[in-house]
Amino acid sequence: MTNMNRKHWLNFIDGKWCDSEERFEVLNPATNQSIGTIAKASMSDAATALAAARRCADSRQLSAVRPAERVKWMHRIAQEILGLVQVGAHVLCAENGKTVDEAKDEFVEAARYFEYYGGMADKIEGVSIPLGNGYMDFTMYDPMGVSLQIVPWNFPVSICARALAPALAAGNAVVVKSPELSPLGMCVLFEAIERAGLPNGAVNLLCGSGREIGSYLAAQKAVDQIVFTGSVPTGQTILKLAAENATPCVMELGGKSAAVVFPDVDLDQLMASVRMGIFFNAGQVCSAMSRLVVHRSIYDAVVSRVKDLAQGLSVGSGDDGSDLTPVISARQLDQIQRMCQRAQEEGAVLVTGGETVSNCQGNFLLPTVFSNVRPEMNIAQEEVFGPVLVIIPFDDETEAMAIANGTDFGLVAGVFTQDLNKAMRCARLLRSGQVFVNEWYAGGIEVPFGGVGLSGYGRERGQEALYSYVRTKNVAIRVAGE
Ligand code: NAD
Repeated sequence: MTNMNRKHWLNFIDGKWCDSEERFEVLNPATNQSIGTIAKASMSDAATALAAARRCADSRQLSAVRPAERVKWMHRIAQEILGLVQVGAHVLCAENGKTVDEAKDEFVEAARYFEYYGGMADKIEGVSIPLGNGYMDFTMYDPMGVSLQIVPWNFPVSICARALAPALAAGNAVVVKSPELSPLGMCVLFEAIERAGLPNGAVNLLCGSGREIGSYLAAQKAVDQIVFTGSVPTGQTILKLAAENATPCVMELGGKSAAVVFPDVDLDQLMASVRMGIFFNAGQVCSAMSRLVVHRSIYDAVVSRVKDLAQGLSVGSGDDGSDLTPVISARQLDQIQRMCQRAQEEGAVLVTGGETVSNCQGNFLLPTVFSNVRPEMNIAQEEVFGPVLVIIPFDDETEAMAIANGTDFGLVAGVFTQDLNKAMRCARLLRSGQVFVNEWYAGGIEVPFGGVGLSGYGRERGQEALYSYVRTKNVAIRVAGE
């Protein structure tokens, strides 16, 4: 049975769609009107899902098959996801506020993860290690077993696929905890996965309270690995719970990423990057370009261009194709506004924005830009997670690097210059998991992504990520008679 009742959505446990006694209301961020409900997974649902995943992992149905079978499952899942792009995009647009096109891109990207890691599922090869006469030695990669994956609301479908695809490719069973605020698109994703006919218990989807079932699951011995994507405080809580069982974790946390802009920048190229870097998805991107660090000689010119850009963006709901869509919740909007207020109290100059859209029920903030920002201000240190850009001046390269590296985060960074030597020098010095040169968000699912410092550790995406989902085992053999 598939979860096709579009007013009330269910959890997917041990191969079945399951209801619960309690439910969550899901709101459209553009209107704050309800668009439906989803079963709120109880502790007992979480225990059932984990037991099902454990049974599946222990049965070795996923790991003992010839890997070519997993390739077929993965490619079938990719095809099924592509078949649900339209329906999924409308659901995701309504619950998340993003544009329909951006929502479609999420499903297409989700399919791409299954294609990409499907292509690796039969190439997880160990090595043989020469030990001289009398010995044979080789390594092999065992799946972890049960992977617990906790997903945030900003890109729920693609982030879910980002961890689920390599986990399945490597032969793990998975329990996914979806975010309370935007869980429905992930149900569509799981409908696609269900159609691929995986063994029961291989994938389980639970929408429940993070504090209740998220914490419960993270503390269980039956979980062999945790992949957490979300905020720093939640990540720290999960790490403490995981420590009890020494459960390995991949932590994809927040950011306060800086683009460093030198005087020889191509300003048109920079503006295209600012548009995407901080206003795409209403700035609710972990790797958003939230700080622009600009050489003083072009500071005023850049501030003026960014102001024009921000004021030229249309603000409205995702289904009418607006440039800037709402933030996820009234609570989030309130928090962003409080940070903007504090920025002004600390002396930052509001260039544009900072206000909500009048006569409107949704969570809209006008595109917001601050100038005269000092690196130590709260608005330049803490993640806003909204369409808010701060612009900080610098005088020389050393100072620029110190400002860019001067937060507790280190997810991505950018350099904008025509001088390749300078770009390479900066790329080495920037303390972050990824550096963009002359285009924010250059790259793709093929390149490793992850942070340093409070942005977390471990890598997602690319070939490297697959190795987070396996353990190396060495087999050392004494060969008689050699
Ligand atoms: P969040 O930490 O509030 O929630 C993330 C998930 O954790 C949700 O599913 C939530 O239910 C669950 N959760 C909450 N408390 C929990 C607990 N005690 N135990 C277990 N699970 C718990 O984050 P959010 O508001 O959903 O997402 C925004 C944050 O995520 C931002 O900080 C953003 O930078 C970060 N993020 C990082 C990446 C990345 O790849 N590095 C990607 C997207 C978002």
